[in-house]
Amino acid sequence: MQSEQVNQPMNVSTNVSTNVSTNLMLNNDYVCPCGGGQSCIVDRRTLNDWVHEDDLFLKNKLPLRKHCFQQFTNKQLKVLNNFTANDSLC
Ligand SMILES: [Zn+2]
Repeated sequence: MQSEQVNQPMNVSTNVSTNVSTNLMLNNDYVCPCGGGQSCIVDRRTLNDWVHEDDLFLKNKLPLRKHCFQQFTNKQLKVLNNFTANDSLC
């Protein structure tokens, strides 16, 4: 039987962390778990760019997703499906 290896912490230098904490302080923008980008709904909102799903959800009085990886609700899915299936949605 093998004895379990003790995980020894790697050499952590103590003088690295000062810059990191100030960065976190400045970071008041919400960062999307998708990492952001041109098609990121969080990024697009920040840039005041038009977000297709937001437009649809607002028209249908549905809550908006907070980030790209949030699951759609059934109602949201219905709106999205309606839009793609039939664009004369009233
Ligand atoms: Zn995103």
